[in-house]
Amino acid sequence: MKIAHNFNAGPCVLPKEAINEAIEGLKDFAGTGMSVIEVSHRSKEWDAVMQETEALWKELLNIPDGYKVLFLGGGASLQFLMVAMNFLEKKAAYLETGVWAKKALKEAKGIGEAVCVASSADTTYNYIPKGYVIPDDADYFHITTNNTIYGTEIREDYNCPIPLIADMSSDIMSRPVDVSKYTLIYGGAQKNVGPAGVTFVIVKESALGKVSRYLPTMLNYQTHVDNSSMFNTPPVFSIYMMNLTLKWIKKLGGLSVIEKMNAQKAGLLYDEIDRNSLFVGTAKKEDRSRMNVCFVMAEGYKDKEEAFMAFAKERGMVGVKGHRSVGGFRASLYNACPKESVEALVACMQEFERLNK
Ligand SMILES: *Cc1c(COP(=O)(O)O)cnc(C)c1O
Repeated sequence: MKIAHNFNAGPCVLPKEAINEAIEGLKDFAGTGMSVIEVSHRSKEWDAVMQETEALWKELLNIPDGYKVLFLGGGASLQFLMVAMNFLEKKAAYLETGVWAKKALKEAKGIGEAVCVASSADTTYNYIPKGYVIPDDADYFHITTNNTIYGTEIREDYNCPIPLIADMSSDIMSRPVDVSKYTLIYGGAQKNVGPAGVTFVIVKESALGKVSRYLPTMLNYQTHVDNSSMFNTPPVFSIYMMNLTLKWIKKLGGLSVIEKMNAQKAGLLYDEIDRNSLFVGTAKKEDRSRMNVCFVMAEGYKDKEEAFMAFAKERGMVGVKGHRSVGGFRASLYNACPKESVEALVACMQEFERLNK
């Protein structure tokens, strides 16, 4: 089989072990003689998967009592709207650290008053704003912890004077998180915890039910809390793959082990970017993401971009092209990206430097 060094931003690399187990489950699920996509979502075998998956989330992230983990459809993009509908009564505050954050803010503005407390749009979102003031009369403060397109990340769990809500689509399960500091955490699964098709929501139950507007049944978190994510048919295969991906994380030793692995992988690539005279990193050093590493050709080598892309492709690198809105290069180093792939990319950059300097 062809070996690809997969640096795609999402959908992206997933643990081979989890994929292989999913293949077995696609053929015969839990000894039922049926595929996991053929059994009833009301069967006891499926119910066990739902319960185990939520338990894995709670265990791995050390989620305190009083929180529920939901598995929904619609992607992180639908959460931009649901968050505002369920929590915005008077006013909401947003930190604009990229295009995803901006899209979240746009949906909130459609629901009520939403203010941007700070933005790094002035320099193409290459840093995380600091030293801003969060209005204390806002219902919540929304942040995007990892900015997938620009390669910046907030790895600190903020002490926030008002309820904190975070889009953690692209760095969930990459490090331990103090969930007690958040009212709600959400994200699409397709970057670190499974395939596309399922959206995770970790919500503090006591924070629900505080808005006066009518909430459509499917857009009301309470519906999904009350029905343990089975109000309607859940995305069964995506949840099944998520379950196997979480088991893989657990087997490796959990999030503190994963965090060390991620720090090491990102360190390897950033060190090479800083050493290699042909490349420069685009994100401010103190805000660099461990998940998405963004870089461009250095001054004097700008005309080599396409040549490097072709050179990397020939050596098995996939998905190192930067997002279409920013150009350059981006290597996504999610949990399942093996260290060997990062080493292969580093070797490729070194060889390219030797041949072109
Ligand atoms: C990918 C991504 C999204 C969009 O997720 P969908 O599931 O495709 O809607 C939102 N926020 C962040 C930070 C992302 O990386």
